[in-house]
Amino acid sequence: MKLGPIRGLENKRCASRRADDETVFPEDPGQDDMVHSLALVGGLAALLTGVLACGDSDSCYGPTNAVEHVRQVKRMQPGVPHAAYGPKGPLEWGQVNFLHTTDTHGWLEGHLKEKNYGADWGDFVTFTRRMKRTAAKRGVDLLLIDTGDLHDGNGLSDATPIDGTMSMPIFDELEYDLLTIGNHELYVSEVSYQMFNEYARRWGDRYITSNVKVLNKTSGQHEYVGKTHRYFTTRHGLRVMAFGVLFDFVRNSNASIILKAQDMIKEPWFLDALTTKDPIDMFILFGHNPAHPSNPVSTFKLVFDEIRKVHPKTPIQIFGGHSHVRDFAVYDESSVAIASGRYCETLGWVSMTGFDESNSAFDGSEKPRCSLHPSRPALDNSTSPFLYSRRYLDWNRKTFIYHSNSHELHYDRRAGKKVTDKISKTRHVLKLGDVAGCAPQDWCMSCAPMEDLNKNIYTGLMSPAMSAMVVNKTRADKPRIILANTGAIRFDLHKGPFTYDDNFIVSPFRDVFLYIPDVPFKLASQVIRKLNLGPVAKRELASMANPLDSCTDPSLGYLSRRDMRETRGVVRRQEIVVPGYTTTDDWGTDGDDTEHSEIPSYEIPPYWETRASFPDDGSDPETVDLVFFDFIEKLVLNDLGAGYTHEMVQCYVDCNFSSQDFMLPYARLAWSENKDNCPVM
Ligand SMILES: [Zn+2]
Ligand SMILES: [Zn+2]
Repeated sequence: MKLGPIRGLENKRCASRRADDETVFPEDPGQDDMVHSLALVGGLAALLTGVLACGDSDSCYGPTNAVEHVRQVKRMQPGVPHAAYGPKGPLEWGQVNFLHTTDTHGWLEGHLKEKNYGADWGDFVTFTRRMKRTAAKRGVDLLLIDTGDLHDGNGLSDATPIDGTMSMPIFDELEYDLLTIGNHELYVSEVSYQMFNEYARRWGDRYITSNVKVLNKTSGQHEYVGKTHRYFTTRHGLRVMAFGVLFDFVRNSNASIILKAQDMIKEPWFLDALTTKDPIDMFILFGHNPAHPSNPVSTFKLVFDEIRKVHPKTPIQIFGGHSHVRDFAVYDESSVAIASGRYCETLGWVSMTGFDESNSAFDGSEKPRCSLHPSRPALDNSTSPFLYSRRYLDWNRKTFIYHSNSHELHYDRRAGKKVTDKISKTRHVLKLGDVAGCAPQDWCMSCAPMEDLNKNIYTGLMSPAMSAMVVNKTRADKPRIILANTGAIRFDLHKGPFTYDDNFIVSPFRDVFLYIPDVPFKLASQVIRKLNLGPVAKRELASMANPLDSCTDPSLGYLSRRDMRETRGVVRRQEIVVPGYTTTDDWGTDGDDTEHSEIPSYEIPPYWETRASFPDDGSDPETVDLVFFDFIEKLVLNDLGAGYTHEMVQCYVDCNFSSQDFMLPYARLAWSENKDNCPVM
């Protein structure tokens, strides 16, 4: 790793102070800590990881009673590849500091095949404990905040009959100060009940759902899932009022009710909270809600304006989610907002100073020693006393170790290791590491245009896979056109073992393949064009996630390129940078904690089609079987026109065969080579 000098920390006293930070933890590393550390640094990683992850009678190569010939990935989350290099410099610590997660969607195991995001939830638990400790030593506040969407996107959360049954207890291991609900906790009633009955209660007054109610089956009433708001005092005396506001989500199941923001602000409790006689030093407005006020989905500005009517100068710190992007927005000279990405790829950092006895009861350190300090006013012409910093951290151990001033050998703490082991065991129980095949290359959703059959996941991988595997055997020789929405695919596929877990990651929704037999080709071949011209389908089944929701796939939405379209200037410190986030926000392009080169990004249409069993001579068939996902049935019928009705629609393979059922068999068929010795990178 080649890093520049640490600005502001050159003096020896601070240098030794930094070194001290590595050893401040009284916890005895103990023997298993040593084993763990060794496992992470040596060539023994795969072997030792297996030892740690498994045990019992099952081996790492699949349970002994497995029917299928499967094996577990050798390198489970403790042994995933390390990031190539670390952050560009230390964080700026203010009087109050925030770490923000959002849209984790079950990715608690980290990204097993991506170096930039290899840390797991255990590594993160350790990081938060170390950072809290650092904050305490420096005499400042550090708050941990999450803004929802805990399911749909990873096997760890989705491979159980009710989403989150095994992932939520892992997520729960973090000592958050504030949490709130996402739309993905509200599609499926059982999940909403789980949040209401179990997790909201466990998190107590830290779980804030200012505009979301769930049916209490005992009382028969819809009740707030968590608290409507929280008034609390930080360790160093800041008196905080917090609201947790979900965007105006409408496709929830009937287990919940979402108050629109415009109605929420008229609620008596909200008005009381604004006019309370209790002093308020800072508002925290957080929620599963896009951070930037220019985003038409966001309702933060509406709530912000209501707060400002009563509190014209009090700082309002905003933490957003749902948009799956890195973003930072300035609301006014005393209010800034951050969005901290998705899928455990990003950890958001915000810090601020400016509190004194005239505007707060803050009793901590004004300028914590041995660290940089926030130096930037929200606006160039700000007259408010508040200065800020913001940073988007890559989710890997190099990041965590660097910012906790630690070392690979000494970093881990028992609480974190326990969580890491719990993830390993859960993955083992759910058989998430079972390998179906060895993917020979990467395919991406938007880094290459649809025409690029070598790289684009839709045309390069999904089309051949669907052609081969989505087949009604009695009609296999009939020409067919398969129509699908690009939003059904939710993540790039990376070279290496294609596992049971990857199937959830790439294709998390269960859309059943339907068809109409013998549609004239001239008519059927027009449908894709009409679909892409027409309104995007709205999923009607509340029990299933909406793949066209901007949250499920930001690369297809209006939010898409904000964080990727700008090219960066010359990169100075790193001689070689790897592709990754290159964010542009209201403050410019210096927010990414680790420097990266830009990943190209192309517009992808809402729908695409695949053709199979067409005549060898290249001629057009007379008729085709027109195959499509169940949720776009109405649109397809509409585009086919008069004479096409629901009665003509049948299940294509069978009535259970869905978008989750073709990639695993395709991987077994097409990628059997090297399956048992498949390199991760
Ligand atoms: Zn999300
Ligand atoms: Zn969302």
